[in-house]
Amino acid sequence: MRLVFLGPPGAGKGTQAMQQAEQRGLRYIATGDELRKAIAAGTPLGLQAKAYTSTGRLVPDEVIIGLARELLEQPGAEAGVIFDGFPRTIGQAEALDALLRERGEALDAVLYFDVSSDAVVKRLSGRRVCRQCGATFHVESLPSQRGDVCDRCGGALYQREDDRAETVSRRLQVYQEQTAALLDYYRAQGLLVRLQADRSIAEVRAAVNAAIEATARRRAPKAAATGQGSA
Ligand code: AMP
Repeated sequence: MRLVFLGPPGAGKGTQAMQQAEQRGLRYIATGDELRKAIAAGTPLGLQAKAYTSTGRLVPDEVIIGLARELLEQPGAEAGVIFDGFPRTIGQAEALDALLRERGEALDAVLYFDVSSDAVVKRLSGRRVCRQCGATFHVESLPSQRGDVCDRCGGALYQREDDRAETVSRRLQVYQEQTAALLDYYRAQGLLVRLQADRSIAEVRAAVNAAIEATARRRAPKAAATGQGSA
């Protein structure tokens, strides 16, 4: 099963993608998380990415496509993958199609988290992230039981530099200008599944479950015909 979770920043993709990946034994691939790790470690990739991420702009396609290739080649992606925050441009989407084709794979569905800009601004300004495991919380709607400490792994929670108000509006503009075009791209391929994401985490989770289960049912006859499993 290969899925893309698509939508504006703050739509709740990461929260849902991490839960689904854990529950279904799929690999979770989030280019934003990898960039933050690289920035924290001061690697060449991190040094290159920082100027873009801190101002809410997109890191150039060739850098991101190289990173996606590396992540896909790591062990653990065989059973299936959920991509979160990738692809974000048509160039990246075409590159992902080509990367998967090389591996004899293809996307099964693209779940579009549809949410208003107002809701996004509220979610991002209250978002807190675990420095250690990347889990996300919200000061009002999903606080950690342990205050400033992650209740999954004990790591410290912090506010992302790009979740501050001045960068959020830039990220939303970038989404409209560069990422929203992917909706038509995937709709034309018959892969797009729209979810109403202006709802509680539990309600969105139920919709995500239903979408993934419908995808698995559609996939089953194809997998049987090609002799592949239905991971
Ligand atoms: P995210 O955690 O997905 O919101 O990503 C945080 C930041 O990392 C974005 O605002 C971009 O600067 C950068 N980034 C993450 N994924 C991508 C991508 N697929 N293409 C370009 N830039 C990205």
